[in-house]
Amino acid sequence: MTLPGRLVLIGHPVRHSLSPRFQNAALRAAGIPLTYEALDVPPHALADALVQLRAGRSAGNVTVPHKVAVAGSCDRLTEVATKTGAVNTFWCEGRQMVGDNTDVAGFRALVLSVLGAEPVDAVIGLLGAGGGAAAVCAVAHGWRNARVVVHARTAERVANLQQRFPHLVTSAASPVEAVDKATIVVNATPVGLAGDDHPVSLDHIARDAAVMDLAYRAGLTPWIQAAKAAGFRAADGLEMLIAQGAEAFERWFGVAPDRDAMRAALAA
Ligand code: NAP
Repeated sequence: MTLPGRLVLIGHPVRHSLSPRFQNAALRAAGIPLTYEALDVPPHALADALVQLRAGRSAGNVTVPHKVAVAGSCDRLTEVATKTGAVNTFWCEGRQMVGDNTDVAGFRALVLSVLGAEPVDAVIGLLGAGGGAAAVCAVAHGWRNARVVVHARTAERVANLQQRFPHLVTSAASPVEAVDKATIVVNATPVGLAGDDHPVSLDHIARDAAVMDLAYRAGLTPWIQAAKAAGFRAADGLEMLIAQGAEAFERWFGVAPDRDAMRAALAA
């Protein structure tokens, strides 16, 4: 196996990320002599950072706010990265930087962990219209007879999702309208990463709907804690985090990581 020169996470900020913790555990478990480093790259420094990462045959992950910008800078995109317009995983092939989106596989894993199977006739109430929301749409696009009703505070980002997924996505005027008829409600905003706010009140969600948060934090996000306490089928983004990280590891090294080692590192 040819190892990348460096293995990095680029984002701004990146201090909060759990990826170094569980990716380094997976590297140790596989005996791969690399360290996964978090690089805080402010937007004005992204172009220079990408030049250096290409020159150093680096591989890695991309997080907020760079996923769309990196998609625009890669030499080649996989099909899912093209479909979502966002890159969370990259590597170098010769002089070319290749961009992929393993958040898509991550969200598919999150849904399976909650529902046990792919839903049919799902109505997804989606809050937020960024990179994570695009991954949700890419997964729902593959389901039979699904539709997605999105609310986000920036209308252009909703319009962009509608252009990418024209027969799937409609827009809602408020979070309450987005979740009104939903069978699956997904928070794809950072609300809940810190503080006690909920992205939308659970009072507006049908009791038999499934509730999923892409955000994750130790001891569950407050919204998912409350959803579970109220009897909803619910999960935060931890399962998605592990699944997207495991898929990325496979793209970089061609072997599956030890997911138990990843989970143990997160639980520690
Ligand atoms: P993003 O591309 O920045 O998009 C975030 C979306 O949320 C945008 O529509 C944004 O609106 C909206 N938003 C931001 N702050 C808000 C607030 N205070 N109130 C209401 N809406 C707000 O981010 P992303 O990559 O999609 O990530 C979104 C969330 O998903 C984050 O919590 C991230 O940690 C999580 N995520 C988790 C995983 C995982 O593996 N578990 C993977 C991907 C993402 P504006 O455009 O108006 O700012």
